[in-house]
Amino acid sequence: MTYRELQKCAEKILRENGVEDSGFDALCLMERFTGRDKTRLKLFENSAVDGETERAVLRGVDRRISGEPLQYILGEWEFYGFPFKVGEGVLIPRPETELLVELGLSFAGNIKAPVIFDLCSGSGCIGVSLARLLPGARVFCIERSKAAFEYLKANAELNGIKNATLIMGDIFEGFKGFDLPEPHVLLSNPPYIKSGELKTLQKEVRHEPAEALDGGENGYIFYERIAADWLPFVKTAAAVECGEGQAETVAAMFNTTEILKDFNGIQRVVIRRKSECSEV
Ligand code: GLN
Repeated sequence: MTYRELQKCAEKILRENGVEDSGFDALCLMERFTGRDKTRLKLFENSAVDGETERAVLRGVDRRISGEPLQYILGEWEFYGFPFKVGEGVLIPRPETELLVELGLSFAGNIKAPVIFDLCSGSGCIGVSLARLLPGARVFCIERSKAAFEYLKANAELNGIKNATLIMGDIFEGFKGFDLPEPHVLLSNPPYIKSGELKTLQKEVRHEPAEALDGGENGYIFYERIAADWLPFVKTAAAVECGEGQAETVAAMFNTTEILKDFNGIQRVVIRRKSECSEV
């Protein structure tokens, strides 16, 4: 079989098994398991694939049609242009979360050595990206899940981060439960799905850890705790991501009305500013 035939075959199996973006997924799986990027796949489309590579691609296709997220099969996913290792036990970084990185940059922009917190860090996509973008910042990432924490460490290393402190701990302990400097900037994309709704999620999402999704009975427990036990210590600004329909309730908890929509027009981020100009 040639590379071209294998890619067509992968795409057909994916499509016939109801995978929405079959062309894209087939290409990603080909790149991952042949070790050739799309230009090279095209260049060598008529050469023969060895049996081992063919089986590796088809095993990837099988995992995908069983409902495993594409990102877990690939093992790495891009966020804000940076690579992040992902797999069973850690939430996959979503594009809308890049808004929090943008906000972090603007909040910390004119502070000389900003202290930035990323609560419920998961893969570390927010904190690691900011540590990379702001070498003069001190970033503190807190994550309680052991499995996710391993990814957080791997991602700090993969991105060559030296200015982030990774803490395995529970944010429910509150700021006072940790020995940390007061932050200028606090960012978080906490779990926000109502416990009762976890079962209704799309099958790919059900492969992701419930702990990263479960926001308690009302979906708001993390926001309640952040507002009560962390926000009072923030010096410059805080921003939290939330689920569709939650922004106004979260804004009330954070004593603000500033809400930002994502690229789909969904109210996605709540911003609470403390002071316009702190130490410069
Ligand atoms: N902060 C991580 C992310 O945005 C993980 C969030 C979570 O586990 N709820 O992807």
